[in-house]
Amino acid sequence: MDNELYKKMSMVMKEINYLKKDGKIEFGTTKYKAITEEKVTETVRKSLIKNGLVIFPIRQSHKREGTLSTVDVVYKIVDIETGQSEELCSSGTGVDTQDKGVGKAMTYAYKYMMLRTFAIPTGEDPDKISSAELDDKEKKMTLCEECNSVIIAYAGKTVEQMIVGSQKMFNAKLCHVCIKKMSNVGAS
Ligand SMILES: [Zn+2]
Repeated sequence: MDNELYKKMSMVMKEINYLKKDGKIEFGTTKYKAITEEKVTETVRKSLIKNGLVIFPIRQSHKREGTLSTVDVVYKIVDIETGQSEELCSSGTGVDTQDKGVGKAMTYAYKYMMLRTFAIPTGEDPDKISSAELDDKEKKMTLCEECNSVIIAYAGKTVEQMIVGSQKMFNAKLCHVCIKKMSNVGAS
């Protein structure tokens, strides 16, 4: 028997030949062009609707280590006419010092699920991207020499400025809490 779902997935692949990178990512001195989740969703969505396909998440798990959140998501793609379906897996990671890590990771997972499922070329070099992100994580993950917590951007200063500033003032890499403490000690 013919599988209508596979035929429709193949139609989506025929309709979307290439996605041009539309976003610019900058980490300090590292710059590269990337494709945004918005552009992927906008493009794939049109083709899914046209072909009578729906995709939605059915299972998800996430973990957080420091500022790094990882999600594993299982999506389901369904042909709305025959009910034929398949499960699609994807993972994503996101770095955030506050509460946006999981959201970022989910956005990443969703984008890559679309790109991989429909084999959409983007001209992206994933190796280059992950190493750029890794470099940035290492920079971001500088620990305070006093309390050992991750130094974060504070009061309009970047992580780098915090580090340089505290080294100048106290000859040590310090977080904003410890800088405040040390400043008060010095003043009294
Ligand atoms: Zn500290």
